[in-house]
Amino acid sequence: MPDDLPPTTRHSNSGQDFATRVTHGGRPGIREHGFVNTPVYRGSTVLYPSCSDGVAINKRSFEQVMTYGTAGGPTHFALENMVAEIEGGSRALIVGTGLAACSLPLMAYLSAGDHCLIPDSTYGPTRRVANGMLVRFGIEVEYYDPLADAAGLERLMRPNTKVLFVESPGSHTFELQDIPALAEVAHAHGAKVIMDNTWGVHHFQPFTKGVDVSIQALTKYVGGHSDVLLGSVTVNSEEDWLTVVAAARQIGHYASPDDCWLALRGLRTMALRLKHQQQAGLAVARWFESRPEVARVLHPALPSHPQHALFKRDFSGACSLFGVVFQPRYTPAQIEAAVDGLKLFGIGASWGGYESLVLPTTNGITRTATSLDVLEGPTVRFHVGLEEPADLIADLEAALDGLPK
Ligand SMILES: *Cc1c(COP(=O)(O)O)cnc(C)c1O
Repeated sequence: MPDDLPPTTRHSNSGQDFATRVTHGGRPGIREHGFVNTPVYRGSTVLYPSCSDGVAINKRSFEQVMTYGTAGGPTHFALENMVAEIEGGSRALIVGTGLAACSLPLMAYLSAGDHCLIPDSTYGPTRRVANGMLVRFGIEVEYYDPLADAAGLERLMRPNTKVLFVESPGSHTFELQDIPALAEVAHAHGAKVIMDNTWGVHHFQPFTKGVDVSIQALTKYVGGHSDVLLGSVTVNSEEDWLTVVAAARQIGHYASPDDCWLALRGLRTMALRLKHQQQAGLAVARWFESRPEVARVLHPALPSHPQHALFKRDFSGACSLFGVVFQPRYTPAQIEAAVDGLKLFGIGASWGGYESLVLPTTNGITRTATSLDVLEGPTVRFHVGLEEPADLIADLEAALDGLPK
């Protein structure tokens, strides 16, 4: 069987630009009858040439070998290879949603009696997993100030702390964390560092900064077209791979190969999309900064961001998701009325697609370890898509001009 060969190329010439790597990585070479893309391989049963072959093949079920549908097939493996490459890790596992990618490593590394630290700025559904299942399974969940420095984290570490969860920037509030400094403390105490790296996409390289397990909601920029839900868990050691993949197989995680195929298709244009969206997002964010209705723009790539120095040190670029804090003289209802009047921004959750989105976040922020007063006025999250920024700004200008002065 040709299965001993990896089903797709793992592009290894890392001296090349990201755009070149997402164009050439994860492709079948001449294997798929010469067709450029890995097709959708659907399947549950995998047939073995003989009983003894079946036993031998199943011993390798954590490798990229076809053993049964739930262990993945060529379409999954092509995407795994691409995601591992983008994140700079050794192996990636594809799961059905970004949220599944958040919960899987928490369940893989934590046991009853363990202590887990989660930033107060974490993505809301991650908080629900932690407060729900983790607590029910006897894990001590503690939220911490996302702006804690190494000394602050040191004070929170306990002998049973097994996981430091990080997310930078924070959901809705966009605080950046000093990941290398925090990871050093966690590792000194024998804890694993698990990061939700969805905002960073490829601009934050987690494994050069002390992260052990990196999560992406592939639903966002990788999918890129608001038509697919997927997540990935990437690691950079064989030991971590075995921990994560064993947990995934125990629970029965799986992703549809059709969705993997859509994500692979999305990846081919992601470098170009991100380049446009970074610039367009910054153009819109800077325009907001010039408006008297706005108190603050929450965008790590703007010099006004309180942790901009960390952004410059740790990120090679930005995506197009940011927040806008309006002046406290406005009520959330006034801001929502302005949002309702926007023509080019859809009102909805998620982000990373080709289209611009807007979401009031004032009531979407939970804080249990730090003050809820992090935001002084009504707050709105913007995702800038592939439209011409001047058109978006004209749309926003009309909405803001309608606000009382
Ligand atoms: C969207 C998102 C997720 C979850 O992704 P889904 O595919 O929607 O489940 C996880 N983390 C962050 C930071 C996200 O923005």
